[in-house]
Amino acid sequence: MKLCELFKQGRTVFSCEVFPPKKTAPVDSIYKTLGGLKDIRPDFISVTFGAGGSQANQSTREIASLIENQYHIPAMAHLTCVVAGREDADRLLTELKEEGVENVLALRGDINPDYPPKTDFKYASELVAYIRERGDFGVSAACYPEGHPESPDLVSDIRHLKEKVDAGAQHLVSQLFFDNDDFFRFLERARIAGINVPIEAGIMPVLSKSSIQRMVSGCGASMPSKLTRILARYGDHPEALREAGIAYAIDQISDLIAGGVDGIHLYTMNNPDVARQIAGSISSIRTV
Ligand code: FAD
Repeated sequence: MKLCELFKQGRTVFSCEVFPPKKTAPVDSIYKTLGGLKDIRPDFISVTFGAGGSQANQSTREIASLIENQYHIPAMAHLTCVVAGREDADRLLTELKEEGVENVLALRGDINPDYPPKTDFKYASELVAYIRERGDFGVSAACYPEGHPESPDLVSDIRHLKEKVDAGAQHLVSQLFFDNDDFFRFLERARIAGINVPIEAGIMPVLSKSSIQRMVSGCGASMPSKLTRILARYGDHPEALREAGIAYAIDQISDLIAGGVDGIHLYTMNNPDVARQIAGSISSIRTV
């Protein structure tokens, strides 16, 4: 199923993101993650694409195929320009198609110093156009409620986002953010700019002080004072931080749904228990 069909059903879409197990983790740990996510029936599951190396790329395809064929949930495979040149993209897309995966999130990717970037596609918009030309896939792209860290200003950020949609992106998934007002302001800028495709809000539950600090410094998301207080008070108490982080995510999600968001994309960090807890707390909210 192409994901754009999901947004015609008149309810808030709920999707989850997983990543291929790290080299140090057992490969079959993904079965535990997917088995747990299957029970909460997300509308689709997306699989990230490693920052480099053929193994990472194969894993994305294999896991997307597993989601689609074994768990019978629509899958979206991520693909980046910095890792995939035209030949790599052709090969991966052919394999995805053979395995029944119909959706791709086309990204530029971040440069990994260990792997020189491929140069066939400079920006995600070029990869979006290339995949749409093949005609086989639903194509999604990334967006940034607080602006992409490399963008000089929010106006050029929205202009380049519009280029991705004009190139054929049919659905957008946002970077994580912690202040819903940032998302609602972004949504307004996007709609004014004529970006009319469904936009899902990316939500990452705060479960550990160190990982959230790493994420925030990597993507430039700002921390509202409410969250800073949570980290200051519970940061060294993992169980308390987990409870407070899940409560914060549920609060964010119910406010976003009340504000009419098209969808919620949960960054699960491969933790199905947290995803289950959050999904269970919003099941009625989603369908109103
Ligand atoms: P682009 O849309 O190409 O934008 C990159 C920058 O270039 C922006 O500042 C944009 O404003 C600017 N720009 C765009 N077009 C032009 C132009 N014509 N002229 C001048 N400037 C331009 N990374 C991974 O490696 N693997 C993943 O699986 C992955 N999944 C992600 C999922 C989501 C939902 C999100 C939000 C991000 C994900 N990322 C992933 C990170 C992403 O690759 C980085 O944020 C990357 O820096 C930008 O990717 P993009 O597709 O948004 O790039």
